[in-house]
Amino acid sequence: MPASEPTPPSVAPIERRVDAVHSVLDRHGLHPDEFVVEATRVADEQWVPENGARIVARAWTDPAYRARLLANGRAAAAELGFELPRHHRHLVFLEDTEQVHNVICCTLCSCTAFTIIGLPPDWYKDFDYRARVVRESRTVLKEMGLDLPPEVEIRVWDTTADTRYVVLPLRPRGTEGWSERQLAAIVTKDSMIGVARIAPPAA
Ligand code: FE
Repeated sequence: MPASEPTPPSVAPIERRVDAVHSVLDRHGLHPDEFVVEATRVADEQWVPENGARIVARAWTDPAYRARLLANGRAAAAELGFELPRHHRHLVFLEDTEQVHNVICCTLCSCTAFTIIGLPPDWYKDFDYRARVVRESRTVLKEMGLDLPPEVEIRVWDTTADTRYVVLPLRPRGTEGWSERQLAAIVTKDSMIGVARIAPPAA
């Protein structure tokens, strides 16, 4: 880096950042422990990728639902009983096709539709992923094991606080006639982020 460019500020390790938050809360007489336990329980039990998988499987098997999902993700998720935090004002499902592959990120931090696909993986929060998936998406996806043919267009979607994206992946060949439950079982969090496609079932 040339000497004229400013040095990016260094970021303290996560433990020191957690300690700093704790000490501020202590100073204000706040005790977040119960909240943390409860939030962790909700995240483990209710904010799971099986929710998004059910939505995807319904969209794969019910064209009318698929149309409603693409028109208004929030309303379509509610049809299956999935609520979103109020500040997730828009839930947008991005339809993969043979020609177009979608991938999501949050260049600012780690936003996801976490009630639908679960909390973001650690790599999703890395500076590396957040910066590079925008600039060199094809390379990043390849490094993550998804080698897309050059003719497939990649669209990168940057999540914001009030607009959350979920990829509606391609239904793999060889799943004709499968039940919604069977289909939901093969939908992964990675496929709803867009860093993986769902492999066809082994013959
Ligand atoms: Fe974010």
